[in-house]
Amino acid sequence: MTQATEIKVKFTRQNAKKCVCWQCPVQTDSACIKANGDKMGDVMTTPFFTPDIVPGLYCSSGVAACKDIATDRSCICGACPIYQDFRLGGGQPLDHYCKNGRAG
Ligand code: SF4
Ligand code: SF4
Repeated sequence: MTQATEIKVKFTRQNAKKCVCWQCPVQTDSACIKANGDKMGDVMTTPFFTPDIVPGLYCSSGVAACKDIATDRSCICGACPIYQDFRLGGGQPLDHYCKNGRAG
């Protein structure tokens, strides 16, 4: 049985750099995501590298802090290198980590 506390993908800058959530239609029209992205700036150097600011890597951090995202749109995690590297397709939830919680 999968343990709910297990963290499969670490919340690191290197992992966030590979994340494609930034291009996802779920987030495109969110004012909250836009504001957080502007505040964050460069993911490798930002002083705001925290789950409530970083607009991605939800497979690690879990449900998005921003609540104005369009979670009825398609998730593009399947096209992400992190998804392949950590074999997230073999776990649960399978997608929409910004809505369903982190990968396990
Ligand atoms: S699998 Fe999804 S949430 Fe995780 S890093 Fe890739 S795009 Fe982001
Ligand atoms: S977890 Fe999936 S649905 Fe959510 S923003 Fe990232 S790519 Fe889009």
